[in-house]
Amino acid sequence: MAEHESLEFGKADFVLLDNVSLEEFMANLKLRFEKGRIYTYIGEVVVSVNPYRAMNIYGRDTIEQYKGRELYERPPHLFAIADAAYKAMKRRNKDTCIVISGESGAGKTEASKYIMQYIAAITNPGQRAEVERVKNMLLKSNCVLEAFGNAKTNRNDNSSRFGKYMDINFDFKGDPIGGHINNYLLEKSRVIFQQEGERSFHSFYQLVKGGPDSLLRSLHVSKDPTAYNYIRVGGQVKSSINDTADFKAVADAMKVIGFTAEEIQTVYKILASILHLGNLRFGVDGDTTLIENPKVVELIGGLLATKEESVEKALLYRTVATGRDVIDKQHTAQEAGYGRDALAKAMYERMFCWIVGRINDVIEVKNYDAKVHGKNTVIGVLDIYGFEIFQNNSFEQFCINYCNEKLQQLFIQLVLTQEQEEYQREGIPWKHIDYFNNQVIVDLVELQHKGIFSVLDEACMNVGKVTDEVFLQGLNSKLAKYSVVGFIDKNKDTLFQDFKRLLYNSSNPVLKVMWPEGKLSITEVTKRPLTAATLFKNSMIALVENLACKEPYYVRCIKPNEVKSPLLFEQERCRHQVEYLGLLENVRVRRAGFANRQEYPRFLQRYKMISEFTWPNHDLRSDREAVKMLLQSCGLEHDVAYGKTKVFIRTPRTLFSLEEQRAEMV
Ligand code: ADP
Ligand code: MG
Repeated sequence: MAEHESLEFGKADFVLLDNVSLEEFMANLKLRFEKGRIYTYIGEVVVSVNPYRAMNIYGRDTIEQYKGRELYERPPHLFAIADAAYKAMKRRNKDTCIVISGESGAGKTEASKYIMQYIAAITNPGQRAEVERVKNMLLKSNCVLEAFGNAKTNRNDNSSRFGKYMDINFDFKGDPIGGHINNYLLEKSRVIFQQEGERSFHSFYQLVKGGPDSLLRSLHVSKDPTAYNYIRVGGQVKSSINDTADFKAVADAMKVIGFTAEEIQTVYKILASILHLGNLRFGVDGDTTLIENPKVVELIGGLLATKEESVEKALLYRTVATGRDVIDKQHTAQEAGYGRDALAKAMYERMFCWIVGRINDVIEVKNYDAKVHGKNTVIGVLDIYGFEIFQNNSFEQFCINYCNEKLQQLFIQLVLTQEQEEYQREGIPWKHIDYFNNQVIVDLVELQHKGIFSVLDEACMNVGKVTDEVFLQGLNSKLAKYSVVGFIDKNKDTLFQDFKRLLYNSSNPVLKVMWPEGKLSITEVTKRPLTAATLFKNSMIALVENLACKEPYYVRCIKPNEVKSPLLFEQERCRHQVEYLGLLENVRVRRAGFANRQEYPRFLQRYKMISEFTWPNHDLRSDREAVKMLLQSCGLEHDVAYGKTKVFIRTPRTLFSLEEQRAEMV
């Protein structure tokens, strides 16, 4: 008997609850967590609770148990979902995607890695060299992305500070032949500032603590992270992470992926330049703004392969075009400080995007034939920041939470709406179920002219006139839970053109390509760059459109406690997550509906040996009739409905019963 039935571990599928109530849902979730069963289904959705301890359930033997099996044949697991997505892709030629959601620290990134490992493990039985190469690259890319995009936060020692959507492309044999990564909104403010107890991106500490002496000497970087203002703001330079070992692992991974020595060196130089930038001090002497520690400017000039004087000028002056004249306008010390921080953030962000781009160069499907002629299907894996509510919620949290509302909307569309639509299409009698549709929230944020993003953009266009406070009044405090401080600056995301020109004119070609728009001279720059919110909104809309045309699989991650404990199941915290993820509604729709549906021919293919009417072949009018006979003959007809093309099975119990009878025959 499958583990499903063993009540000792609770119900393996929430659909099987005796009563669908929040109390029963929570009791089952808790029981399973305590019994070390971290995965539970809602139909085909996996609910996962972060175990905060190493689980012995991801090894080769477990992979073998899930390979090619149907979802309900084995205890709930990420592997079963990965396999279902893979089968849909391979057998039915469907593009699929696996959407992983949950709040920070709930286990999304770990889940995405296990899913990728599973897919890598079950593909390429022929050991084709090119496929092995691609798989290796896909797995290695995680290590590099995490070094540059993750940081220790108060909620997660290895928190992803960017959103990631990775497509894996498969050929007609079902083997991975390439991939593509999209990254979303890196939290670049972390480069210059961290909340207490948090760190900047791992990459900085890895370099300072793990870089070989000769490298650090050439970068003029000391081995002491507290020597650098930017990375010690959070007062936390240590973490459970081994920076020294990771430095080497990341360097190796970059080499394997195909970064050249010059490229890797440039990355280190950029990191070092940012560290030095953070230590620059501005002062005033009469009317003149000056740099108090000019030696640092010299170091930065050397690292960025630009003239020291150019660096100094870009930091202290801004070139402005007034009519036909071009003049150099001196910054105040405060403006210079703002410019320095903007430069540090922008350099890091550009570098991050460039790294993603370089990884894409290497993993993108190369073989033109495979791309154009061959069957080329895709599995997408989305690991994106979950809802965040801090003491202080700023622009980043606003964007992140908007993104989650957007994904929740997609979930509602796909799981709740589509499910109901399928019953209609198949002619199955159906009573509509109500749920909270968050479209109103999404509209509030993104509607043209009226939405919050529009109001914000408008505020940003009225340079000087509109302050954050005015913006807040404009919004009529609709955003009560956010602090609007910095919204306008962060949205405008101004980086003085002078810096772009400075870096474009670097004699380091790797650095230069990161700054193409530095090519424009001051008089050519006329177009206002798109605001951060508009860019983010556009990327989210594109993401959702992309996901919506794929067959979705969902992993809903829950964080059991705030203290990373493997023992603690905090009832209130978990209940809150279950509620906002809409899991109970999910169970209701699923239960009012049917646990499983299969097209008639497929159903027969699997179960025809159970009944004399269908084995080895049937002589009935249609497959539909044959399935009816089969189910009647084993007394299961009360639990099913017959649609136009599919048989709908109400409870998983019926499915298990079929599986058992099948097992007895084969
Ligand atoms: P998220 O991406 O949702 O912010 P992570 O995937 O980074 O969260 O998980 C946070 C931490 O929780 C991990 O660093 C790890 O220590 C622990 N963790 C998450 N999932 C698992 C798992 N399946 N098994 C063991 N530990 C896990
Ligand atoms: Mg993560």
